[in-house]
Amino acid sequence: MKILTKNMHVPNLREIGVYESLGGYQGLRKSLRDCKPNDIIEIVKKSGLRGRGGAGFPTGVKWGFVPKNTGKPIYLCVNADESEPGTFKDRLVIEKDPHLLLEGTIISAYALDCHLAFIYIRGEFSYGATVLEKAIEEAYSKGYLGKNILGSGYDLDLILHRGAGAYICGEETALLESLEGKRGHPRLKPPFPAVVGLYRCPTVINNVETLANVPHIINNGPEWYAAIGVERNTGTRLYAVSGHVNKPGVYELPMTVTLRELIYDHCGGIRNGRRLKAVIPGGSSVPILTADRVDTRMDYDSVAKAGSMLGSAGVVVMDESTCMVKAVRRITRFYAEESCGQCTQCREGTEWLYQILTRIEHGRGRAGELEILLDLCTQMKGRTICPLSDAAAMPVESYIKSFYDEFAAHITQQRCVILPAA
Ligand code: SF4
Repeated sequence: MKILTKNMHVPNLREIGVYESLGGYQGLRKSLRDCKPNDIIEIVKKSGLRGRGGAGFPTGVKWGFVPKNTGKPIYLCVNADESEPGTFKDRLVIEKDPHLLLEGTIISAYALDCHLAFIYIRGEFSYGATVLEKAIEEAYSKGYLGKNILGSGYDLDLILHRGAGAYICGEETALLESLEGKRGHPRLKPPFPAVVGLYRCPTVINNVETLANVPHIINNGPEWYAAIGVERNTGTRLYAVSGHVNKPGVYELPMTVTLRELIYDHCGGIRNGRRLKAVIPGGSSVPILTADRVDTRMDYDSVAKAGSMLGSAGVVVMDESTCMVKAVRRITRFYAEESCGQCTQCREGTEWLYQILTRIEHGRGRAGELEILLDLCTQMKGRTICPLSDAAAMPVESYIKSFYDEFAAHITQQRCVILPAA
């Protein structure tokens, strides 16, 4: 079952004529012709579509929070700042099928009564930005953007905005600050962006994969979409699989797939016939799953029940040759670099985590440091402006708890206890 990637093998899909020849922009035509904005919100609610960026919040419900008739403009921001380590699926949509994203964005903007939308794209995605720029130009020239779209009376302008390469700008309020031309510092919530967002106006921020589903939901109906997957976990997901598998890549599958099926049936199993040790199921910030969780179904609720989060569905597979101290030290380094520095727990905590883990990895760990790390993680969670502090603490906590003996052995034996890969 492929929805978002079904046409990605077609040559020149990026060109608007090719996209149209495959039924492209029919969802937009149908929306403008047959639906009032609220009808679209109801359709998306009925489909069960949940946000694909990380939190998994129901998309239609999020749209429903936006206050109407306030006299202020409503903005839609597409979060294309895909920066979570292990995640590379939005990039695929942007680079291969940009008009699908544009069509989803225009329909969603219409649903929200928004007349100015933005795509905030990660600074490093220079190729993706070029592809989108051309696609936007084509959409304007064909009358899918601009004034009186397809003669409907609806106007929408779409601006592509390139970030400068900061992970934190993927956090929705930091993204808004950055769009306003300020330093990408997350804002305190509440108020939430749905009420006080870009330029203090009601704003919806949606992920690329989320919006790319919208044209298909409009074309095929919410019942069709809701029938894919399982209750509360409808539709497909783009699983970005990396690490120690034979065939890494982006796999679009219904959320009924198990981790075992994903790794062994779709990704060709573990490289060099090694044994599975652990899996990050949803980007580097989520708790790790040990190999005995391999039969977990890869939907939001099942992964949560197994003790982690589906997050961005960036799946990183680790085989038995992986040193868990080194793995989490590398992840921690990233978060220490990317902390914006506003909150003490995050600014200092990420750096302390990194320093202690580096000592342990290099055979200079001291007795009691695992307890210090765990205590530090507790102090870092749930107390900061944005979730980056939690994102740094959760992996450390889960790696230590899941592989306590391995961490302890690094300290007692003063060296790495995992054999290097052959
Ligand atoms: Fe900045 Fe970290 Fe605080 Fe988020 S948690 S606002 S990244 S210091």
